Parts: sequence; C-alpha cells; structure tokens
Amino acid sequence: MKFTEFNFNENLVEGIQASGYEDATPVQEQVIPLVLQGKDVIASAQTGTGKTAAFLLPLINNIISAPIDHHSITALVIVPTRELAVQIAQHMEGLSYFTSVSSIAVYGGGDGNAFVQEKKALSAGADVVICTPGKMLAHINMGYVKLQGLKYLVLDEADRMLDMGFYDDIMRIIQALPAKRQNLLFSATMPTKIRELARKILHHPEEVNISISKPNEKIIQLAYVVYDTQKIPLVKYILGQKEFSSVLIFCSSKISVKQLNRELRRTTLKVDEIHSDLEQSKREEVLMHFKSGRLNILVATDILSRGIDIDNIGLVINYDVPHDGEDYVHRIGRTARAAADGTAITFISVKEQRKFGQIEKLLGRTVTKVPVPEQFGEAPEYNPTAFIPRDGKKSGKKPFRHNKDRSVNKR
Ligand code: AMP
Repeated sequence: MKFTEFNFNENLVEGIQASGYEDATPVQEQVIPLVLQGKDVIASAQTGTGKTAAFLLPLINNIISAPIDHHSITALVIVPTRELAVQIAQHMEGLSYFTSVSSIAVYGGGDGNAFVQEKKALSAGADVVICTPGKMLAHINMGYVKLQGLKYLVLDEADRMLDMGFYDDIMRIIQALPAKRQNLLFSATMPTKIRELARKILHHPEEVNISISKPNEKIIQLAYVVYDTQKIPLVKYILGQKEFSSVLIFCSSKISVKQLNRELRRTTLKVDEIHSDLEQSKREEVLMHFKSGRLNILVATDILSRGIDIDNIGLVINYDVPHDGEDYVHRIGRTARAAADGTAITFISVKEQRKFGQIEKLLGRTVTKVPVPEQFGEAPEYNPTAFIPRDGKKSGKKPFRHNKDRSVNKR
C-alpha cells in the first residue's frame, strides 16, 4: 500500500518521501487507518516492523489538520529507555520536518541544561513529547507540565516498560492526563499483564497483531491436560514409547529444569540440562554432546528457545506452558527444521489453562488434546475460560473491550 492512499497532509507526505518510505509496512497499513478514525489500538509489533511511523504519521497528520491547544502537550509517547526516546524523536524530526508540528524528547540522565530546556518546553506546551516514565513523572510532580489539551497517549514497548518496573509511574502519569483521549499501546509480546494494563487504559480498542509468526505447518502439535503431579510420570511414559533421535524439553524455570533432569537421570535415558546457572563453557559442552548425539534428551529453559541451530530434533516437549504465543512458536520451532517432521507436545496444568487458551487464540487454532493414559488416573477437564484463579474470583472470559461509554476523538 502506497503512502499516498492515506490522504495525508502534503507537508507530511514530503517528510515521508524525504525519509525514503514508499510503501507502508503491514503494521502501518493496519494501524494508521484506525488511528485516523480516532480508535484506541493495541498492537503487537516488534521493533523493525515500522511501528514507530505507524503511530507518528497519523498523530502528526491529526495535529496538523485539527484544532489543538497550543499551550499544552497534544501527544505523549511513553517509552522504556532513553535510547528509544532519542530514536523516536529523530524519526519524528524527519517525518515532521516540513510541518510546523513541534516535538521534544524527555529522558533521564541529562544535565542541568537539558532539564531547563525540558521544563521550558513542557511549561509552554509541545505538540509531541516522547518521554521515559520516571523523568516525565518528575516533571509532572513539579506542577508546570501543561496537559490540559492532551489528546493522544502512546505506550511503546509496553511489555518492556512493565518488565523494567514502570507500571506505577505509568499509572501516575495517566492519572494526570485528561480522561478523554485516544490511546495506542504497542508491545512485542502480549502476556497477561499487558492485557490487564490494556483493559485499564484503552477504550474499546482495535487489536492489530503483527508479530506472531505462525508455526511451521509440518509440526504436529499436541497437548496433554494434566495435574502438576502427572507431569514427570507422563514425560517418562512419552520418552519410553519410542526411540526419538533428539528431544528438547522446555521448562519455564531453572528449578524445574534441574528437578526434571534429576528425575530423568534415574532412568537409562541419556539426558542433561542447560540453563543460565551453568558457565558458558559447560553450556557449550552440553550443546555439543546434544548435537553429536551423545545425549539425546536435553532439558532447557527458554535460553534455548531462540536461534539454536540443530536440525534433527524430532520432539519438543513443553513441560510448562510458555509465557506467550511468541515463546510457544519459538520453542516448537526447534523441531521440524529443514526437511524433517517433528512433534511438539505441551503439558497444560490447571493453572496454565487460561494462558494456553490465549496462545491458541493468538495462533488462531486449537491444539489437539490427547487423553492422558488411564494408568495416570483422572486428568482435569480443559476449560481455559472458566479457570478460577487463586484469589477465588471467577474470572470467566476476559474480554478486552468493556462497555464503559466514552466518546472518542474523531477527526
Ligand atoms: P521501527 O520498527 O519503527 O523501529 O522501524 C524500523 C526501521 O524501518 C526504521 O529504520 C524506519 O525508519 C524504517 N521504516 C519504517 N517504516 C518504513 C517504510 N514504510 N518503508 C521503509 N522503511 C521504513
């Protein structure tokens, strides 16, 4: 899709051309029209997809073409690191070069001069402010930041911001913003905590999903719905059924890697473990033994889920349900590489059902559930939407959209 099809302001089009962009990337193609329509958006898109321009372009266009309060910040873009703030500010400068839209990056670590400049811009009002959470909150707490005319909030790399512990700062900043505004949230991954954040901040959001790569069609995906206590006997059972050339077993924690490896070592299986507690040289040695076939079973944390290049893995077992869809795809993608076929089996315990349900939703398919063999006793039902969490409150299906009526900026 050509940028000319968005009907952008001609000065903005000049900036786009000067930046060397011709065709919109998929995330831009999907996000830009939604933002122009005034919709809230939650987008899963990683760095490199063109996500920055996906929010900057419609924001710049909106700021040019609708009345704004020139004594206020109009758009606030919150990002996790100063490097990202600087990078986005540079993008902004390039794209808005031929327009009158102003912008400033506000981030920690600057000297007194930078602070004075930031204070001046924030007191006078800048059209677009790109900031890190801590520094922005420090300015807001001093009382001079003009936010009364704010219309747009962007949270970029939201998963990283939560991982870095910025949740409280973000919520405090949001409390200082006008309630009526358009919100955009970008995140490389969509774990539960991001969906919860989205539920608090976004209003009737449209969802755009770019980053989830589909797993290789050749992988046979299966799952067992089990109680935690059934996992170890079931692994042993599966490994005893057939001689697999190479088996990779993923656990979500180092503790369960070590525990499972200990258990499997009691059998005749040639097994070892790999995780971040091991020295690099030991990790390399274990990997070499696995590649050469001296070991045929490797129990690993997610350090091995991306990028390792071993072609003949016939079976991947997810001893725990991975964090999110992206991790699932990466883990099972270790099998069925090159021309070979492969099987991926996931164990879903009761407390992991909801997470697996979300993964299935992201994959756009359900994974075949294999009945647990009778000798292991009764197994749980699979019902990912009816899981009752530890706090005892029935969660049911957790939709993103809620019905609180809000008017949305339409331009
Ligand atoms: P981002 O994912 O936003 O970090 O962008 C990744 C890179 O792609 C940046 O260097 C952008 O300048 C570039 N880029 C973004 N959109 C386009 C586009 N439509 N055409 C060509 N390059 C682009």
